[in-house]
Amino acid sequence: MSFAEIIIDHKSTSVDRRFTYHIPDQLLDDAKVGVRVVVPFGRYNKPTMGIIVEKTENLKAQFKTKDILRILDDKPLISEKKLELAKWIKEEYLCTGFESMQPILPPGDFRDIYTIVEAREDFIGFDILSENGKRILYHLLEVGKMEYSQLRNLYNDSGFNKEISLLEKSGAVRLNLQVRMKTTTRVEKHIVPNSDISYLKGMEIVGKGAKKQLKIWEFINKTKETQVKKLLLEFNTSLSVLKAMEKKNLVRLEDRVVYERPIPNEIPSYKRIELNSEQRVVFDGIVNSQNNLSLIHGITGSGKTEIYLQLVEEMLQRGKNSIILVPEISLTPQTTDRFVGRFGNQVAILHSKLTQHERFDQWRRIKSGEYNIVIGARSALFAPFNNLGLIVIDEEHENTYKSSNNPKYSTVEVAKKIVELEGARLVLGTATPSVETYYKAKYGEFQLYELRNRATRNSLPSIRIVDMRNELQEGNRSIFSRDLYNEMEKTLKDRNQLILFLNRRGYTGFITCRSCGYVAKCNNCDISLTYHRSTNRLRCHYCGETHAVPTSCPSCGSSYFKSFGIGTERVEEETRKLFPNARVSRMDSDNIKTRDDYEIALESMKKKEIDILIGTQMISKGLDFPSVTLVGIIAADTTLNLPDFRAPERTFQLITQVAGRAGRGEVEGNVILQTYNPEHYSITAAMDNNYKEFFRSELDLRREFGYPPYKEIATVTLFGRNNQKVMDSIEKSSSALIDLVRESGLMDIEVLGPNPAPLEKINNNYRWQILLKFGYNHSKDIRDIIRRVYTIDKGNLIEDEVKTSIDINPNSIL
Ligand code: ADP
Ligand code: ZN
Ligand code: ZN
Repeated sequence: MSFAEIIIDHKSTSVDRRFTYHIPDQLLDDAKVGVRVVVPFGRYNKPTMGIIVEKTENLKAQFKTKDILRILDDKPLISEKKLELAKWIKEEYLCTGFESMQPILPPGDFRDIYTIVEAREDFIGFDILSENGKRILYHLLEVGKMEYSQLRNLYNDSGFNKEISLLEKSGAVRLNLQVRMKTTTRVEKHIVPNSDISYLKGMEIVGKGAKKQLKIWEFINKTKETQVKKLLLEFNTSLSVLKAMEKKNLVRLEDRVVYERPIPNEIPSYKRIELNSEQRVVFDGIVNSQNNLSLIHGITGSGKTEIYLQLVEEMLQRGKNSIILVPEISLTPQTTDRFVGRFGNQVAILHSKLTQHERFDQWRRIKSGEYNIVIGARSALFAPFNNLGLIVIDEEHENTYKSSNNPKYSTVEVAKKIVELEGARLVLGTATPSVETYYKAKYGEFQLYELRNRATRNSLPSIRIVDMRNELQEGNRSIFSRDLYNEMEKTLKDRNQLILFLNRRGYTGFITCRSCGYVAKCNNCDISLTYHRSTNRLRCHYCGETHAVPTSCPSCGSSYFKSFGIGTERVEEETRKLFPNARVSRMDSDNIKTRDDYEIALESMKKKEIDILIGTQMISKGLDFPSVTLVGIIAADTTLNLPDFRAPERTFQLITQVAGRAGRGEVEGNVILQTYNPEHYSITAAMDNNYKEFFRSELDLRREFGYPPYKEIATVTLFGRNNQKVMDSIEKSSSALIDLVRESGLMDIEVLGPNPAPLEKINNNYRWQILLKFGYNHSKDIRDIIRRVYTIDKGNLIEDEVKTSIDINPNSIL
């Protein structure tokens, strides 16, 4: 007797379990792992769709099993290896079975997918078909095409799939996955000039007083139809101006449906570059190595991307597929352009902005072999290739590679598992490896490769440190040191471009009272509010709530209630004041909200329409502008003082990445770094471009305080609207956990807390936390204990309204 383990509904988390069904004999051949089936479910045997995730023989169960009713797929929707991966994810990250399935399931609802079988008109080889095959084909020729499961119903005998797959192989039929889905469309406002009104007549209607409107009228008479967004950006104006013009009947504002194209059309081809000897060593090493895990530690601009490109090419020659991961698809257009420019329509780009339908379509096409290369953010890791050869993770150290939703997986760890299952290779690349990864490379788990020179033969920019304490002492109260100011002036005079970087958005940091120390905080989130000059309001960056600015201290009434610290808006304002003739542009998540915004800004940077670009992390990655010769880091301290054990690492990475934006062209680059902590090893090591020096100091600290890579960290956060219930639950559950740890006799495990989480309240949820630190040799035991307390025994320990979040090696413990 054969049985199948089936999952029923991946959306429901209340029934996180599999169900066992008997496989009737006539379905035995076709009931493969990964296909969807219809089974009788529940007390009333309602026909319900599920997926077979495992098959078992000779079940010893005491209960009577029901029969599978129908099979819906000719081929598995999900490969056996992916199902194995999901199982591993569930164990590793302590999520539910359904959550572990999410990444490997097709986008959307798997119940909406169906297969169409279509007869091919051009088929002529009837002689080679079996009798059954002919019967099916004649029927299909009559009706044209039919849904697979309906067709199957007509010929409900064993071996149906064999017939279908023979028909497909011999070219008699074509099979296509489709999805039932309401398509959602995105619209965008466009502005269209009224063609009945001549240019001159229009000028007259606008009138001489309205300068902006005159300019806009002139502009759209040339361009005709234009994106409203583009126009607003171009003229730095608001929608009300356009509305006013609409009232005068000069223009119409119209909605246009936007079709997000997976691949933009106009990407120029990117020619193959002969690898230099340093790159060649790395390439040969990776291709020939026994170890299928590699780390390329290569300075910015050393030509890592060209190595990736040629590895992909090598894979294509071997008939294998590649997955390229980038930290964030919209922030790395230059990398995606190179892949598309080299491999054209073999590349699928998985944007996060795709609609459900488009996403499913990409999934389907990857699965059916239409693409050989996928490029995307971390979720592209799960692309359903049948013959995977290579996974590349570019900028391996970036924190976007840790998922913050369930399953809270680490991309590098999951990728390791995938290449193990699929027999593929994993290549990590970065100028600033994460301490954990570099440690693994040092100890042989990853093969380590180094690139020490820039591929274009120009040298790395030199980094100069300015001690801001001295500036203040010597009477300079500006946010620019004298050094930075002079260099900016010089750069502008030479007609080069420069970037100012600050790791914080908003006009200022937080607002504080200089008399009593009161800090304005968000009531919902307990987070310092940030002052935004453009709206003249305080905003919480967590929940988005805004407040009016008090004129005096709400606590003591003092009027010494001032902003503290600086933000990108303030940098912009000061810059404009000091360099009134420079063309200044700011890029941060306040004013760059869509991919279009981003691309428009990049385009004007490329065309040298911007002299000074001011930005946050957004501009630290992957950008390559040859005429940027100066980078100013306004305050390295903003990162250094984050409440997180990774703060020094993040600081080193940021400085290195940002500095890497300078001096990419003919002219040598300069970096000026302002700080109040000039002796900190993250800063001195970054200045010397000495990763190893940084690594040594950092590793000492990690060892001393018991952080990764020496100890593994896990947090359990409970949250809910009733603080008392959350506190009771964390109290009860953590003491149960501590008891289990004690019983297990395992040493070397620390349980910290329960404490209020660093963010005590988010969106009116109170949050309490325990933090566990343990040696890697206890990985499995600790996971068992956490699972025991927070899933199996949950009913007795945790109140109903209280929710649990478990994070293994969290990005931050906020
Ligand atoms: P990384 O990804 O390591 O930061 P890139 O791949 O962006 O570096 O390469 C930096 C520049 O060097 C690019 O403009 C690239 O075209 C160029 N480049 C790469 N390899 C070579 C080579 N072998 N010879 C000449 N130029 C190269
Ligand atoms: Zn006060
Ligand atoms: Zn808030």
